[in-house]
Amino acid sequence: MMRLILFGAPGSGKGTMGDFIQRDFLFPKISTGDILRSAVQQDSAEGGQARSFMESGGLVPDELVIEMVRQRLSRSDLGTGYVMDGYPRTLTQAEALSRIACESEKAIFIEVSEAEAVERLLSRLTCNNCGAIYNRLTKPPKRDGVCDVCRGRVERRADDNEEAVRQRFRVYAERTMPVIDYYDRKRVLARIDGGGPAARVYETLKGLIA
Ligand code: AMP
Repeated sequence: MMRLILFGAPGSGKGTMGDFIQRDFLFPKISTGDILRSAVQQDSAEGGQARSFMESGGLVPDELVIEMVRQRLSRSDLGTGYVMDGYPRTLTQAEALSRIACESEKAIFIEVSEAEAVERLLSRLTCNNCGAIYNRLTKPPKRDGVCDVCRGRVERRADDNEEAVRQRFRVYAERTMPVIDYYDRKRVLARIDGGGPAARVYETLKGLIA
């Protein structure tokens, strides 16, 4: 079983690339952000614990996220591999993930300028039901406010505002950049240029997987 891990700043395209990989390689995309958002929406106990951290652009406590991922990875639908989007984000999470066995592991660091990433985040729209990703300017849903995939409601994420975005970048630099170094030292990290249209970035990325 292959474990693919996507790294990159907020707005670098991890979620979009994860969707393409899921479609073409049939690797389930495991997005801790999506799992947490659905917990918040369902008003579960975990959602209640996570909500304020997410809205301010901070990180949800490690114990909570590590346990969610452990449960997700214990399910039997993983097939020949899976792709992680937004996890691990701290060294503690990376160490916890390393204790879960896999046959091969690849980490891909999608590099994009902060200016381009911020621009994408501030025009991003997300389906609050299935998590599909749109962009107000470059990829709007066919019907205003309605998801093409599941007919759910398409809107701006609560944390895609300037203040939370600023905090997410700060947290990314302080807590997640060291995790990228960790995978670099493990010699499983590749870097790709994440600027420009998603389809072009994906062409490069695809070549690293097979
Ligand atoms: P994302 O959808 O990946 O941008 O995640 C949205 C928010 O969920 C983040 O800003 C965090 O508050 C929280 N979150 C997602 N993944 C993690 C994680 N691995 N560790 C801690 N918090 C997370």
